[in-house]
Amino acid sequence: MAGKTDNDIELVVSANLPTAFGTFRITGFSDHVSGKEHVALVMGDVTTDEPVLLRIHSECLTGDTLFSLKCDCGFQLESALAAISKEKRGVLLYVRQEGRGIGLINKLRAYALQDKGLDTYDANVELGFKPDERNYGICASMIRLLGIKSVKLMTNNPDKINQLEDLGITVAARVPLEAGLNRYNKSYLETKLHRFKHMLTEVE
Ligand SMILES: [Zn+2]
Repeated sequence: MAGKTDNDIELVVSANLPTAFGTFRITGFSDHVSGKEHVALVMGDVTTDEPVLLRIHSECLTGDTLFSLKCDCGFQLESALAAISKEKRGVLLYVRQEGRGIGLINKLRAYALQDKGLDTYDANVELGFKPDERNYGICASMIRLLGIKSVKLMTNNPDKINQLEDLGITVAARVPLEAGLNRYNKSYLETKLHRFKHMLTEVE
């Protein structure tokens, strides 16, 4: 049986998922354009008029599951789930676009260039990619399929807000999400601040 679809994103299945941050509903989506599978962790009723606390998290194998200190992804993932759990209502979209959309192996190629002194922005460009290849259309579809009317977006990235609004999503507020600054990711976060124009107050 086919699920609901929105621009080739299909909501396939939902199930309960107990986690260290409380019990969520996990919803699985098939992306019929890329062939990727994405998930949303949902807590509480997110279909009411009250803006929903939302984190859009792009997959980062090294940061999310291998304890990398080279970026802040794992720390942001934990902080976002903790914030949703505290509010007892919210959504985390876990989007399978590794390395700002360039894929795992290319991200590791970019890391190798960074070992030679390039920053994350220039390394992606050196490999022939845009500095950020992520597609937020997938996220807008997932938001609509979940019945969310407006969001309080946990992000430091103003471009994410602009792209979502251009895609018709109402962003009622921005909630800063700064976590996990350490000596290994300091220069990465400085690049996010200065070259990707992220709003970061802990890095200067
Ligand atoms: Zn990362």
